[in-house]
Parts: sequence; C-alpha cells; structure tokens
Amino acid sequence: MSTSQFKVERVQGAPVSDAELLEDLVLVARDHGWPTVGLRQYEKLGKFSHTTISRRFGSWNKALQLAGLITSNEINLSDEALFENILVLWQHFGRQPRRSELARAPSTISQSPYNRRFGSWLASLDAFVTYANNVGTESPANPTPGVHRTGRDPSLRLRWQVLQRDRFTCCGCGASPALSSTVELHVDHVIAWSNGGETVLENLQTLCSACNYGKSNT
Ligand SMILES: [Zn+2]
Repeated sequence: MSTSQFKVERVQGAPVSDAELLEDLVLVARDHGWPTVGLRQYEKLGKFSHTTISRRFGSWNKALQLAGLITSNEINLSDEALFENILVLWQHFGRQPRRSELARAPSTISQSPYNRRFGSWLASLDAFVTYANNVGTESPANPTPGVHRTGRDPSLRLRWQVLQRDRFTCCGCGASPALSSTVELHVDHVIAWSNGGETVLENLQTLCSACNYGKSNT
C-alpha cells in the first residue's frame, strides 16, 4: 500500500466508537448500492482503515454482519447451497425451521441471501419444499461401476424423503429433536453401503446418534 492511502484512525485522542465504524461501512455500501463492501473497496472509499475495523470486530466478515451487510461468501450462493442449509436446520430441529434460527449454528447462511433470492423466509421454505419434493427429476448420483448403482451419499432430495417418511423420528428408539434438543438425527444405510447396500429410499433410515453409533460400517 502506498503512503498516500494511509488513513489516520482519528484526529486527536477520542477513540472511534464501534457504531461509527459500522456506520461508515453501511455508508460506503449504500452510496454505491452494494449489498456488501470488500476490504479494497473500503480502503479507497471509507473513512477509517480496514485493519482497524477487522481488529475491532474480530474479522471483516464479522463487521459486515454487525453492520447488517452481507458477507462476501454469501454472494452468488447456488439454490442448492441455500436449500442444503434449510435441510440441515430442518433435520436439526426436527421441524420447519424459523427465520430467527438462520442467525445461529448449525445454520451457515444468514437471512439476507434468502430474502434476495426468494423475497421472504416463507417463500424460501416454499421453494425448498417444491425443490425437495421434485423427486422425479433425480438421477442416481456418482454410480461406482461394477459394485454399486448408486453413490454412497444420499442427495438432498433423498435425505428429505427419508426424514419425511420417518417423521423426523429415530427408527430405532423413537427419539425426536422436536421433543428433545439433544437428539441429533442421521440418515443411515440399513444395509451398509460398504456391504453392498444401495443408496435408495428402501435402504435408508432415520437414526439418532445414540442408535447410529451403536452400529458399525454405516
Ligand atoms: Zn435412536
């Protein structure tokens, strides 16, 4: 970086507040109609140094999140990535996920990309269900010649079908994350894939961690 781009953090003493830093981020983004702002863009157009901001909030992405902007890794997410995150949440909670649950683990995508793509959270869920239920269009993924006609990992649509059929409840013991938040569900092969079992609806079942780890070769 050349010295002409050097930025003084603050004139005379008074430390800049978190709010001022975030406000300036939003200002730069808004002035240009951007949903986010990158380090280099900010360095050119912003009032403060990007290193000051990153240091203050832990990381650049953390600052963007706190400013209500989107993080660069949330741009151009595919529909599949957005739907995968919904299925992760649905499986985790054992029920339709709520919008507020996007903000914390196990969600890896915030609300903004859903709103931009589908208009609202409800519309996102609608789009997900339509996509996941559209099983006719599925082709068996990654067949392994000679051994299997299906790949080891079930597709999103297949996992959705299994979980729906089993009502998000463990086939072994009946546990459900909807009733107890400590229950974690897995989609598991009945006849292990390594023993020649295929990745098809009839050979898949929903199991909780406890029941799943009681088995081997899954
Ligand atoms: Zn179980």
